[in-house]
Amino acid sequence: MPKKFDAIVVGAGMAGLAAAYKMSSEGLSVVVIERGDYPGAKNVMGGVLYRSMMEELIPEFWKEAPLQRPVVEQRFWMLDKQSVVTSGYKDESWAEEPYNCFTVFRGEFDRWFAKKCEEKGALIINETLVESCIVDDGKVIGVQTNRPEGDLYANVVVLADGVNSLLGKQLGFHREWEPQQVALAVMEELKLPEEVIEDRFNLEPGMGTTIELFGQGTMGMVGTAFIYTNKQHISIGVGALLSQIREKQVQPYQLLENLKQHPAVRPLVRGAEPVEYYAHLIPEGGYNSIPKLVSDGVVVVGDAAQLVNGIHREGSNMAMTSGRLAAEAVIHACNMGHFDRDALSSYENELNNSFVIKDLEKYKDASHLLESNPRYFNNYIPTANMALREMLTVDGVSKKQKQKKLTKSILGKNGLFTLGKDIYQMWKAVR
Ligand SMILES: Cc1cc2nc3c(=O)[nH]c(=O)nc-3n(C[C@H](O)[C@H](O)[C@H](O)COP(=O)(O)OP(=O)(O)OC[C@H]3O[C@@H](n4cnc5c(N)ncnc54)[C@H](O)[C@@H]3O)c2cc1C
Repeated sequence: MPKKFDAIVVGAGMAGLAAAYKMSSEGLSVVVIERGDYPGAKNVMGGVLYRSMMEELIPEFWKEAPLQRPVVEQRFWMLDKQSVVTSGYKDESWAEEPYNCFTVFRGEFDRWFAKKCEEKGALIINETLVESCIVDDGKVIGVQTNRPEGDLYANVVVLADGVNSLLGKQLGFHREWEPQQVALAVMEELKLPEEVIEDRFNLEPGMGTTIELFGQGTMGMVGTAFIYTNKQHISIGVGALLSQIREKQVQPYQLLENLKQHPAVRPLVRGAEPVEYYAHLIPEGGYNSIPKLVSDGVVVVGDAAQLVNGIHREGSNMAMTSGRLAAEAVIHACNMGHFDRDALSSYENELNNSFVIKDLEKYKDASHLLESNPRYFNNYIPTANMALREMLTVDGVSKKQKQKKLTKSILGKNGLFTLGKDIYQMWKAVR
């Protein structure tokens, strides 16, 4: 095995594989180092995979990739203790080309994606931990692994080592993430027959749905819960900011049990057999937490760069896009024969011009606002449930009278000024 490559990619997740695929397609010598037994073994996702970003790498990938169901419906549920306010959008044309998104199992998908990288010439090394980057005169020139004589050298190292990114921390790109910069998510795969899933979720054969749940789904903490349909499994999970989990001293498994017991969720998961349990961190710091992305001989992509849009549940697409853009910068640097910060800076420029940074910038204040103002999750969601319950309960009280009572109750709890301020601040944070 050659010890010097054009590029070393650390981590065979969405970001690392996207970078490896692009670089090896252009003829660069690429090695991907993965600590798991195989690509995807350690990777966790709800998991909705977006067609458009994957297709920029592999056209018509859906014809051969291991996918679960094309998603035709996205539902949004606001849970109170016993009740739920629902909304959503369904369009069966999403079950046809060009598709919008699919549910996937990362264990299967990443393995397939890694095979595609190998077909392009990339070398994938599993069961190998990168312990540190080798730095010479301020420039990253390779990596040290836990294998005997396991040092490898390259012109560029792509750090795609996921949310913890110990390597980024070692290089001083970021500090230890604060508990409010990451969410802890737990999820289960529940097995059910295909037809039962389709009946329970009101789906045509083969089609899929996603449900995002707020409010009681996270016991009022800032975060979301989710239920996604796969072929013969339901993925159910819940994630909340680590700072809030710590403050409320909730055990993660309690969050999931609480969700599964909710009257709106219980019938969906009844009788299902748990087959997998996962726990993982999600970067939630957004725009304000993005670390240094480029330095001499090194670029950072995906979760390692905090590129997740928690509001829209988008992470895999940002990982793939950042991986692809980083690869293009490395290809450009190879053509020039320079690998310093300036030569690789087109990655940062292209990322800034892409939806990735634009979307993260748009929501840069949202997470902090939700965390600092508990009324959004703890007052307004129960209020929406209460208002609908009141208006939909037919009990001989006139609607006008109900409306009056509701207005009094809402304003009594929050006051007109607070309500107005909260609406304005939320509008400012998401406009
Ligand atoms: C519960 C949950 C649900 C989610 N749902 C969705 C969703 O529905 N849709 C969506 O788009 N996103 C979702 N996300 C986010 C999405 O999973 C991530 O944004 C995406 O996986 C990031 O890809 P990545 O390649 O940057 O990191 P990862 O996929 O985490 O890959 C990092 C890889 O690096 C390897 N690694 C780490 N350190 C080392 C080392 N030192 N040496 C060697 N290998 C190393 C790891 O084993 C891993 O394979 C979800 C995340 C979670 C936790």
